[in-house]
Amino acid sequence: MSIPALELNDGRSIPQLGFGVFKVDPAETERIVLDALEAGYRHIDTAAIYGNEEGVGRAIAASGIARDELFVTTKLWNDRRGADDTRAAMGESLEKLGLSHVDLYLIHWPTPAAGSPVETWETLAALRSEGLATSIGVSNFDERYLPAILETGIVPAVDQIELHPQFQQRAATALAAEHRIAIEAWGPLGQGKVDYSGGAIGEIAERLGVSWAQVVIAWHLASGRIVFPKSNRRERMAENVAAASVQLRADDVAAIDALDQGAAGRVSSDPAEVS
Ligand code: NAD
Repeated sequence: MSIPALELNDGRSIPQLGFGVFKVDPAETERIVLDALEAGYRHIDTAAIYGNEEGVGRAIAASGIARDELFVTTKLWNDRRGADDTRAAMGESLEKLGLSHVDLYLIHWPTPAAGSPVETWETLAALRSEGLATSIGVSNFDERYLPAILETGIVPAVDQIELHPQFQQRAATALAAEHRIAIEAWGPLGQGKVDYSGGAIGEIAERLGVSWAQVVIAWHLASGRIVFPKSNRRERMAENVAAASVQLRADDVAAIDALDQGAAGRVSSDPAEVS
């Protein structure tokens, strides 16, 4: 299985298709991530708040896969802000992961109620200079929150935002594109909260003889986004990774683009309300 790589604006390379571990039970994480690595994933997306960094770390260690063949992302949680606390939080994440560096470190949410993100963001840049994170970025910084980050002159490599066919975040993705910030689509399948099995997606799936989830993943990939769908089940891990070889036509991509409902399509939290 060949997974395409994207070049980030900092010159680093990222596997475009990875495996996310939101809501993966810490007690089961080692086995589930080992299954994902076995299925061919080399990019794992976790976060301090998921409580499963230790399991991810154990799986990496047990896999025997060379560190430089893996891409590991973790994220700074909302109750850690400012230079000292951000440094401390990153140290804790690295210790739990059993790693000397992560490939990507993200501010998880903008938390506007907590004030300016600038000191925290500049700390991530310092941690990158020190080699603790190879690339840095933000998450859930839509067009309302990205400008404050850009004003620092330190451009994020990625912005990880909720994005799926009915919620395509046109304003945030346009702003990110101006700065060559790669979009990582979280909840890429709609988190199981939207039925994407019918309509245009269902018709494309039927024509190609693939699943609706594979069509949606292939649409993200064809659109230049990074995705890491989550599943605890080995057959779905394999199904999702195989989406890398599903070829959509331009009119398929356009048909899914047309499913956007704007803000009404959001299925998870509005960053304005997350503190
Ligand atoms: P997702 O869209 O990947 O949906 C996951 C659900 O889809 C699974 O629980 C399963 O029920 C279903 N599913 C998976 N594969 C399927 C298949 N082949 N067929 C049918 N159903 C299938 O949602 P997610 O897990 O929330 O998002 C993916 C990753 O994004 C997370 O694991 C996490 O790493 C990241 N994430 C980040 C944030 C953030 O704030 N930065 C928030 C949520 C998720």
